[in-house]
Amino acid sequence: MESLHAYADIVGHEVIDQLRQLAAPLKNRKVVHVNSTRMGGGVAEILNKLIPLMNELGIETHWEVISGNTDFYQCTKSFHNGLQGNTVNIPSNLLRNFEETNRENATLLRPALQDADLVFIHDPQPAPLLEHISDRKGKWIWRCHIDVSHPYRPVWKYLRPFLAGYDASIWSLPDFAQTLPHPQYIIPPSIDPLSDKNIALPEEEISGIYAEFDIDPDRPLVTQISRYDRFKDPVGVVAAYQLSKRFIPGLQLVLAGGGASDDPEGEAVLDEVYAAANGDPDIKILLLPADAHRKINALQRVSDIVLQKSTREGFGLTVTEALWKGRPVIGGNTGGIRLQVINHHTGFLVSTPEGAALRIRYLLNHRDILEHMGKTAQEFVRDHFLLTRHLREYLTLMVILSKNNSDRIMLS
Ligand code: UDP
Repeated sequence: MESLHAYADIVGHEVIDQLRQLAAPLKNRKVVHVNSTRMGGGVAEILNKLIPLMNELGIETHWEVISGNTDFYQCTKSFHNGLQGNTVNIPSNLLRNFEETNRENATLLRPALQDADLVFIHDPQPAPLLEHISDRKGKWIWRCHIDVSHPYRPVWKYLRPFLAGYDASIWSLPDFAQTLPHPQYIIPPSIDPLSDKNIALPEEEISGIYAEFDIDPDRPLVTQISRYDRFKDPVGVVAAYQLSKRFIPGLQLVLAGGGASDDPEGEAVLDEVYAAANGDPDIKILLLPADAHRKINALQRVSDIVLQKSTREGFGLTVTEALWKGRPVIGGNTGGIRLQVINHHTGFLVSTPEGAALRIRYLLNHRDILEHMGKTAQEFVRDHFLLTRHLREYLTLMVILSKNNSDRIMLS
């Protein structure tokens, strides 16, 4: 993990100075983040980077992970699917198990949570912890990373009472905010430009990817990097590739994914992808280990275009990761992708495999436009979606919440 001053080369010294200034009133405060997986998925990706930087700024920041059995993750995956708009039917024994698991985790985490000045609870999995720490000292914030623009109402109705008691909530987009009796803040996520996932790589390491995954460097390549999750629509990506291939015969597709320990549906979705690919040797379906950050980085760099054809997406870090590498993204016209893919500037927003195929053909047949969009994309990420901006907004929120009785806040 790079220390703060290393980011100055990318974002400028004044940005780093401002972070130090914002963090000063929070020195020695104790902050705890809680989620449900240390590896896999965007939340873990962000916490891995954000927490060391907060510590470097003098804020005592810890990361706790709750655990549960298979039924627990089955239940929370149904919450996820329901909050993102699917009709789901969750048996009451799974709901009781969800509540009981949180009660048990609260007992284990009590020493860490009770005295913390600020607690960030990420997503629904650990949301009920709050009600078990009734003698809490600090402010508790629920951070939602999910696309809840059109939740399945019964799931929202069940979860809302667990959330209402929080002091604040954070959402990635205004569209996601809900009716809750506390202030709601909009903070989109970010990527770390100095992490293995995003840092510039030596040429040999990038080109090593061709042989490793049997990709022909002389033919065009489109890629989607995502957990095998139906909302990421990997089957729709295969369909878009198949439609484009009629006009671009040499086209290759890489689908790279891996599991997250709190996502039990991956295998079933992977089977659907294999069936759709139907043995096409130009479709590489990869299952990468959770720490394959440099390989994903290289895959994004050898791709001509990156796809993220989600039908619902809280944010989609993979979009920003690709844009940062100067790759235009063809993304689903939904949720957080709309913040990142500015139609005709950093990529294209699409709603169907046909739409995606049309844009793939267009970009591969207009290399000058593809390159220009890639350059625009990288600058757009520098301005909006790097870790330093994310940290600044978290710090601002933390200062606001820790001084909420005063009508003015002085930053030294
Ligand atoms: N990712 C990964 N390996 C994979 C698939 C995804 O490391 O096989 C990473 C990806 O690069 C990104 C994160 O996991 O950093 C996924 O975050 P995103 O917000 O795109 O989606 P989520 O999985 O949180 O829905």
